[in-house]
Amino acid sequence: LVMPLGQAISAWTQLQTGLGALTRIQEVLGLEPEHEDRPERPGTGGSSAGAPLLELDGVSFRYPDGTPVLNAVSLRVAAGSRVALVGPSGAGKSTVLALIEGFYPVDSGVIRWAGTDVRELPRAGLRARLGYVEQEAPVLAGTVRENLLLTRPGATDDELWAVLADVGLTEVVRRSPLGLDVLVGDEGVLLSGGERQRLAIARSLLARPDLLLLDEPTASLDARNESLLRDTLAAAGADRALLVVAHRLSTVLDSDEIVVLDQGRVVGRGTHHELLDSSPLYRELASAQLLV
Ligand code: ADP
Ligand code: MG
Repeated sequence: LVMPLGQAISAWTQLQTGLGALTRIQEVLGLEPEHEDRPERPGTGGSSAGAPLLELDGVSFRYPDGTPVLNAVSLRVAAGSRVALVGPSGAGKSTVLALIEGFYPVDSGVIRWAGTDVRELPRAGLRARLGYVEQEAPVLAGTVRENLLLTRPGATDDELWAVLADVGLTEVVRRSPLGLDVLVGDEGVLLSGGERQRLAIARSLLARPDLLLLDEPTASLDARNESLLRDTLAAAGADRALLVVAHRLSTVLDSDEIVVLDQGRVVGRGTHHELLDSSPLYRELASAQLLV
């Protein structure tokens, strides 16, 4: 099994910069370390016309230690659309993203990409279609440039600045005369939790995924960072689909669909206003966050 990216990266940071570890991170990111060109990718057209970009159909899952986590979860993400996954801590939201990334096989049900069972698709090809930003923003020791180039080593400076603008980090990076070559961390530019998350999003966006999977950070997201994250999602969603795990409902109020997960089951789905009517749990989450 593949280690979660956050874990792989903290292990890596402890070991300092090492080429072997870099290769492993690239593997986790679904990249082919030795090739700049993207690996063969499955088509978005897919085998069945009109199929959603991504579909979970009755997916159930327990962790290898036996913990049952997901029970017949179904959801669809259409190309270019924006879907949010909300629910209490421990509901299984991050697990849904891990299954889509293919870190574990499902026990029953099917995950389809453009209508095709992902088990029939080359894993590296599918990963190249997906951008995955974990809850613990994985920022590497190194420079801003190094952090970004990991997903697309051939990107130009203009492309790097453009993607930094998309995630609202231009000012932060410009503060240093070193610009893109400023170190991230104590000896360079110190990034807040929200800024690290946005740098990780920028790295994912550079690879131009068709679907961005984002696990929103829970704590340490102040109002300003949250509003920047909202802007980032708007920019990121302009030409790709988003599936966002949201701890703050205000981040996802304008999603095309919000799916409410509780103890591994989908207990509601719809827009914010539909869910306020139809889902007691959603209403509870919303009122706890002073949104109603
Ligand atoms: P959420 O993201 O909604 O907070 P998770 O998907 O992280 O929920 O976790 C759902 C359940 O699965 C929790 O009970 C959690 O303890 C358990 N869990 C998460 N990761 C693992 C793992 N690697 N091994 C075993 N159990 C896990
Ligand atoms: Mg989680």
